[in-house]
Amino acid sequence: MKINRKKTRRINVGSVPIGDGAPVAIQSMTTTDTRDIEATVSQIESLATVGCEIIRLAVVDMEAAEAVGKIRLRSPIPIVADIHFDYHLALKVLDGAIDAVRINPGNIGNQNKVRAIVDRCRDRGIPIRIGVNAGSLENDLLERYGHPTPEAMVESALGHVHLLEKENFHDIKISLKASNVPDTIDAYTLMSERCDYPLHIGVSEAGPLLSGTVKSSVGLGYLLANGIGDTIRVSLAADPAEEVKVAWGILKSLGLRSRGVNIIACPTCGRLEIDVVGIAQRVEERLAHISETMDVSILGCVVNGIGEGKEADLGIAGGQGVGIYFENGEVVKKIKDVEIEEFIIAKVEERVEKMRKEGIDP
Ligand code: SF4
Repeated sequence: MKINRKKTRRINVGSVPIGDGAPVAIQSMTTTDTRDIEATVSQIESLATVGCEIIRLAVVDMEAAEAVGKIRLRSPIPIVADIHFDYHLALKVLDGAIDAVRINPGNIGNQNKVRAIVDRCRDRGIPIRIGVNAGSLENDLLERYGHPTPEAMVESALGHVHLLEKENFHDIKISLKASNVPDTIDAYTLMSERCDYPLHIGVSEAGPLLSGTVKSSVGLGYLLANGIGDTIRVSLAADPAEEVKVAWGILKSLGLRSRGVNIIACPTCGRLEIDVVGIAQRVEERLAHISETMDVSILGCVVNGIGEGKEADLGIAGGQGVGIYFENGEVVKKIKDVEIEEFIIAKVEERVEKMRKEGIDP
């Protein structure tokens, strides 16, 4: 299946290009108090390690607005300052180092205030993200549509867009989040027909790790497979590192991006000879920091194991009390079952080392 990505305008969030065919970028949001600079920098650093490419920070007051600039100077990835209503906070944030601002211009009062923000953003090449959420639609739209329908969400977003376009500002990306999948799909599909601004897609408040992953994978997977979406966030009631890992999983499974070690593990059955579930989980966790692309298979037996793992760069198939190690489909050696985990980790690290020496960029 070939995914034909919808043509959108190009914007840049710091060093990350978005839209117009750029790789779909992965975003998350910090859960720390933004005023706590040390804790926030530390969380951003660990999210960057697992593949977060853009991070959003909640700006709740002036102290947080000042902290954002200091955090940006230490952040390895671009920062989006999330502001809801207070235009003073936006101006404060724009005084310091920052890569994008999320603000809905219709919520900040009048066009003079919009102009003040737009002028600063334009001067500094900073894009504005308009973020419409089904849970906070304008009252007039709710009265007209009865409830937060996809059409109402799109109308709300276009209203905000219009206020920026009145200032001849087009450095915009848009998000339209609902917590149910069909409305999310409908809203983004409709929006992509109505404008060519890049879309930041996500299912809002998707839920805890398991159910949120399912909802996000279905919603974002559908949209991305249909060419819609320039950046993504998986919203989970969980550690944001999980959001980033799931987002990568979605993009990798559609063949839109590749990064890191891809673990191919069998579902296990009555032929199982080694602890596939435990080994695969631990190996995946321990190798999550690696950005070089590699396929590693961990399979329960030799009956189907070696054949199924042929496409992998390296892997193990279970035997009686042993693991049969293979590289590129060829058996290399047998190792004791208790040594499998450490052996696989060592082999992957060895390959990564070699790739780095040879300058292979993931
Ligand atoms: Fe069963 Fe072996 Fe296939 Fe795993 S690889 S599912 S153990 S037949």
